[in-house]
Amino acid sequence: MDLISMSDRDFIVEVARRIIRIPAISPASGGEGEKDRADEIERILKELGYSDYQRYDTTDEYGKIRSNIVLKTGKGDRVLWLVAHIDTVPVGDQTLWTKPPFDVTVDGDRMYGRGTEDDGQAVFTALLILKDMKMKGLKPKIPFGVAFVADEEMGSKYGIQYLLEKNIFKKSDLIIVPDAGSEDGMTIEIAEKSILWIKFSVKGKQWHASMPVNAINAFREGSKFLLDLDRRLHEKYTARDDLFNVPYSTFEPTKHEKNVDNVNTIPGTDTFYFDCRVLPQYNLDDVLKTVDDAIAEFHKQSPARITYDLVQKEQAPKKTPEDSEVVKRLMDSIKRKRGKTPRAIGIGGGTCAAFFRRLDMPAVVWFTTIEENAHRPDEFCLISHILMDRDVLEDVLSS
Ligand SMILES: [Zn+2]
Repeated sequence: MDLISMSDRDFIVEVARRIIRIPAISPASGGEGEKDRADEIERILKELGYSDYQRYDTTDEYGKIRSNIVLKTGKGDRVLWLVAHIDTVPVGDQTLWTKPPFDVTVDGDRMYGRGTEDDGQAVFTALLILKDMKMKGLKPKIPFGVAFVADEEMGSKYGIQYLLEKNIFKKSDLIIVPDAGSEDGMTIEIAEKSILWIKFSVKGKQWHASMPVNAINAFREGSKFLLDLDRRLHEKYTARDDLFNVPYSTFEPTKHEKNVDNVNTIPGTDTFYFDCRVLPQYNLDDVLKTVDDAIAEFHKQSPARITYDLVQKEQAPKKTPEDSEVVKRLMDSIKRKRGKTPRAIGIGGGTCAAFFRRLDMPAVVWFTTIEENAHRPDEFCLISHILMDRDVLEDVLSS
């Protein structure tokens, strides 16, 4: 059956199957990028009867093509945009999956697969609205736009940042990024924390493990530093802001790279990372000063040497005002469709909305979702959430 005459549910499952089976993992995480998946989305748009979209492809530092698709329908000053990212994170530990990650499994209301929720759910919702415009005679009062973007999981350089240089969006536009939310759909995210990812490299001296006197154990020295830095950061940046659902800054040691191959070698190098999510009131340069101070102190006491690189540093922009047009309109539509009043919140950061806010374009992050499900094994989304969100978004378009 052709896409356009399918029921809503069958349509969602079919486009999910076609999109999720094409992995779109960042080359920085060992993948091939988004090109093949963008080609498939283009085929779906054509089958729905759309030809007036634009491809914005660019080549990254790995020589891979990174693809974005922008589609705008209707005429008028103020465009309602959905920004949906089409890249996904890797599978992770495959043994933790009970379903195939790249082949959608439908179980009742659930669709399983890597990227079904993050951010497939946004992609499927956008496509469903585009189908309704062809099939159900939905006539939006304002133009509707969709940006299918690359590279969100690794910093958005080849995705929304690339598109924002092309003057596609205007300050008067309404920008909704369906990429985080809550199970009742009653939270509208208007602020994010700053993000700082730091890679620490510890240099010691490798030696046989039976002769530690000749070695400088980079693992042990790095561990001392890690705990000291962890304590300093938590003691210094203690402010709270209840707009955020983790109402304080977080500093977490995360990835740890392989050091030596065998048990009887003392590692001469050690590499680990911190993921810091900092309340917007703090300047990230101050946080880095704290890091520099900790290193200077460490160097006084240890023969090991520590350097660091910044993997990501994004100072949070000003929050989207609670009385901005996009917040008011989305709140009104949620109230109309669900009978309850949503609330504005802040989150841990890392969506495309921050890049809009930096340019003084009010953007909100919203959808209805199973929380803490993205990036996990057996990631899934609910078909009913897509249908409910479609109703709200179509109400925004037609009121
Ligand atoms: Zn996402």
